[in-house]
Amino acid sequence: MDKNQAIRNIKLFLFDLDGTLYLGNRLYSFTIPMLVRIKETGRRYMFMTNNSSKSVADYITKLAKLGISATREDFITSSQATAYYLKKYHPGKTLYVCGTKSLIAELEAEGFLTTTDLEKVECVVMGFDTELTFQKLEDVSKLLLTRENLPYIATNPDLVCPTEFGSVPDCGSVCQMIYNATGRRPVVIGKPSALMPELAMEQTGYKKEETAVVGDRIYTDVKSGLNAGITGILVLSGETTPEILAASEDKPHLVLQDCSEILSAL
Ligand SMILES: [Mg+2]
Repeated sequence: MDKNQAIRNIKLFLFDLDGTLYLGNRLYSFTIPMLVRIKETGRRYMFMTNNSSKSVADYITKLAKLGISATREDFITSSQATAYYLKKYHPGKTLYVCGTKSLIAELEAEGFLTTTDLEKVECVVMGFDTELTFQKLEDVSKLLLTRENLPYIATNPDLVCPTEFGSVPDCGSVCQMIYNATGRRPVVIGKPSALMPELAMEQTGYKKEETAVVGDRIYTDVKSGLNAGITGILVLSGETTPEILAASEDKPHLVLQDCSEILSAL
């Protein structure tokens, strides 16, 4: 199938943010016209992020600063997907959350109780914790070492998170520290797991053949699409070089220079 036709067949676009719609604090020139075009043609988009340190409200503020107006319904975050997973597999469990106040607030808003009283904990949730303390590492280690069957979930597998000056350790790196201490690995929710695309389709009613994930990383963005059985679109406007693409075992359905190709196809 022709590339433009393949793009036109998509009704729901799930966009990665950094490297796809903007780079750091610089919005790509085609982003807003493309988002407008998607809506004008009766299609829909959602922003899909692994970052569990920020709430949806935080993201709405961040995007507003870049000139993108967004509402709650436009987002699918690893925090929301974690709540979805917990409701499905561990309903009503009391959580110990090694995460930010924003993550705790999101999980509580979804009806979960959280506690720091280790006796009451029924499930451990690791997030991208920009408010991490040694006490939390000690608590999680103790819980996992003393309670063999305690469910252990992580919002996202990313080892590092990009910043203006380079990278800082993300959830996956802290989980590695916990693994060194306890030998336990979590169930991981964010991209490349299929859970966020699945949740997006459940919320919007779009089918697999109408849905695509669009992102600049093969091993997280595109892979989540492949895992969910939807179209995986790679854009070369971020992290992935043609050399990385050539060496990757996972092949995107479509490769675009950047999202301006979506704009011109629609
Ligand atoms: Mg990205």
